[in-house]
Amino acid sequence: SSDAVILEAPDRGETVDATARAFAEAFGYEPDGVWSAPGRVNIIGEHVDYQDGLCLPMAISHRCFVAAARTPTDLVRVRSAQSDVVFEGQAGDLAPDAVEGWPAYVTGVLWALRPFISGAVQQGVDIYLDGHVPLGSGLSSSASVECASAEALESLLSLGTTPLDRVRACIAAENDFVGASTGGLDQSASVLAREGRALLLDCRDFSTTPVAWDLAGQGLALLITDTRAEHSHAGGEYADRRRDSERAAEILGVGTLRDIDPAGLDEALGRIDDEVVRRRARHVITEIQRVRDFDALLERGSVREGVAQLGALLNASHDSLRDDYEVTVPALDVAVDAARAAGAHGSRMTGGGFGGSTIALVEADSAQDVAQAIADAFAREGLGSPAFFLALPEDGSGQDR
Ligand code: ADP
Ligand code: MG
Repeated sequence: SSDAVILEAPDRGETVDATARAFAEAFGYEPDGVWSAPGRVNIIGEHVDYQDGLCLPMAISHRCFVAAARTPTDLVRVRSAQSDVVFEGQAGDLAPDAVEGWPAYVTGVLWALRPFISGAVQQGVDIYLDGHVPLGSGLSSSASVECASAEALESLLSLGTTPLDRVRACIAAENDFVGASTGGLDQSASVLAREGRALLLDCRDFSTTPVAWDLAGQGLALLITDTRAEHSHAGGEYADRRRDSERAAEILGVGTLRDIDPAGLDEALGRIDDEVVRRRARHVITEIQRVRDFDALLERGSVREGVAQLGALLNASHDSLRDDYEVTVPALDVAVDAARAAGAHGSRMTGGGFGGSTIALVEADSAQDVAQAIADAFAREGLGSPAFFLALPEDGSGQDR
């Protein structure tokens, strides 16, 4: 196969300038500011957010930039560097099902923030976005669009929202306006992430605890492989898994599977007759415990000190998602197996699954070799060319200019 190339995010300052320039070209005047929000990888804790679980995401270097301005009208105009589809409509007309295609991710946030907008006056805005999170790769380009938009609207309209208000508005935009069934992991990470940290997220109350996650200083790296395989969250499979886990909670008589003590796992599973539902429950309950174990290792010492056990937890997470939750596809398994065989400390799929991306915890100086091994395995299996990125823990959404 050809040489594997690890792609870097474009220079942030230059992208801010370019987004402002593109706004000016599109709308004929200068924007009031530029805001941005990152994509994310979830390090561990997959398919547990909708069961009040724990997860551990971090923001990546790839971000969505939004240049925007208040207008003297009630018109909302939205454009993207990544699409020819444009939106134009009156602020007061925004409603679920009224907006088609990607602009719903932006207008949905404005809609969800309406309780914070005072008075009956419908304020117009012009928004131009330039997204550098790969679309539909499981790295949450959708949350990066929403959260950058929320940041812009907060500033432009002086809404007085807290970061958590914005997280909730972005979740509402995706669930209720776009109509995609997601938990709160993506939006929490995109808004609340901190540089040099992973974010322990308790999905029960969206409380977060930054956890030291120093990869570069320890000679380690997190290699992201975008398999470029099909991925669709809005699709039925994701909703099916959600339903299976809800069914398990119902059978066990708890609100969510978070309430099951992992010490009583076998007893709990013994009460579920349906073999599939039983495996789904086993994934969720054990995955939440793996996040606790992962976090405990990071509390106890550096990533370097815990690297073997951290890697083992990543591997166990993937195997559970493959065998019990059945959300992997061949491309994800091939990428993970190739990374492990090439000496990664651990590797797993990240995001909702059914395609999307994997992560591998690797020695920094072996990232290129691991990427090459994955590219070679893809070529052997006829899976096309994956894309590679290095994930550095970056800061969450904010104003760039
Ligand atoms: P993911 O969040 O994993 O990238 P999703 O399916 O949740 O995948 O979101 C991808 C969708 O988000 C795209 O199909 C598009 O509608 C929208 N989107 C993301 N980034 C952009 C962008 N820069 N411009 C326009 N639409 C975007
Ligand atoms: Mg998404």
